[in-house]
Amino acid sequence: MNEITRIGPADGVAALEGAIAPERPALPLAVLAEITHRCPLQCPYCSNPVELERSNAELSTDEWKRVISELAGLGVLQFHFSGGEPTARRDLVELVAHASKAGLYTNLITSAVLLDEKKLAALKEAGLNHVQISFQDSDERIANRVAGYKDAHRKKLAVAGMVRAAGLPLTVNAVVHRQNLHHLPEMIQMSIELGAARMEVAHVQYYGWALKNRAQLMPTVEQLDEATRVVEEARERLHGTIVIDYVIPDYYARRPKKCMGGWGRQFFNISPSGKILPCHAAESITTLRFDSVRDHAIEWIWNESEALNKYRGTSWMPKPCQGCEMAEIDWGGCRCQAFALTGDAGNTDPACELSPRHQEIFQMAKAESEADERRFLYRNFAGGTWEKIDDPVA
Ligand code: SF4
Ligand code: SF4
Repeated sequence: MNEITRIGPADGVAALEGAIAPERPALPLAVLAEITHRCPLQCPYCSNPVELERSNAELSTDEWKRVISELAGLGVLQFHFSGGEPTARRDLVELVAHASKAGLYTNLITSAVLLDEKKLAALKEAGLNHVQISFQDSDERIANRVAGYKDAHRKKLAVAGMVRAAGLPLTVNAVVHRQNLHHLPEMIQMSIELGAARMEVAHVQYYGWALKNRAQLMPTVEQLDEATRVVEEARERLHGTIVIDYVIPDYYARRPKKCMGGWGRQFFNISPSGKILPCHAAESITTLRFDSVRDHAIEWIWNESEALNKYRGTSWMPKPCQGCEMAEIDWGGCRCQAFALTGDAGNTDPACELSPRHQEIFQMAKAESEADERRFLYRNFAGGTWEKIDDPVA
């Protein structure tokens, strides 16, 4: 998955909120497909699981086509191709064409480094509707260092130009953290110059591999305040030019985010091997088992899967969520975060100041940000196992 990309960008496509009952919600109108976990980049904040799915476990071309047809038949409107890096799959054009023929709005969420003019033209010809490109910084040296990929930034800039020249709408995804926040104004300016209609400024969320680099990425409280000011000022100044979405870091929040609109309520994604997940980080909850499109119909999984039903609605909630007036607004926050920080996904998200763990988490984040550890822990696939690689350029 490209960082922590949110879906639902799509120009002219209706918002997905509302009209959904809490207990047996309707199937989402948009689906995010992680068609592979393979990726040439090594972002230290990657939210993909620590144990990535191997290429030989991925759904085949025919299986993805069956899934796409099934979703279209169920009334799904948008299909987001994500990863890993979705362009690492050789059948991407074929899959986009299939989704397009099935009447789905298609979005490509990409790091862009494997794209060129020819591939982009083929994707457009296949019916691709929208492109989201992730950027690591506006400064080339820092961007390449964070991506762990030589020449990544120059390639991204070039492909963003090709996207616009092809007449496709562009969204810039910018993941921000302690080591690039000082360039936030320049990143916003870069997005405008690239012709992006939308920009997503997202503070790192600490799941998957990102949790291993938390101390290296955690912003200071002052940086967070300044970033919020910069975004608010830019939103006002650039109204009508670019839409800026903003995701803040949980650890400094007073209330948790309405994670994925509530567990199993408004969203699901499909893992490379076909597992239906309520969010891209859900497999970090090792106590749950997720059902696969290889074994069941998608509609059955959405309605009946034990994992999706486990934290749906409010009946599972412990105190202080149980009976809280926010229970049907934030749905108790994030289950992955509760699991990562407390060892039990059924606990109140410690991002909430009513959680008994909140102060401890807040102080830990503050201390980590002030210690200013800068050396990233990268991962790379070598010799059949995932290797940790220390940052050569601290
Ligand atoms: S390494 Fe970076 S580009 Fe690749 S999937 Fe992870 S976050 Fe996305
Ligand atoms: S106690 Fe639970 S429901 Fe209430 S605000 Fe906190 S996380 Fe949300």
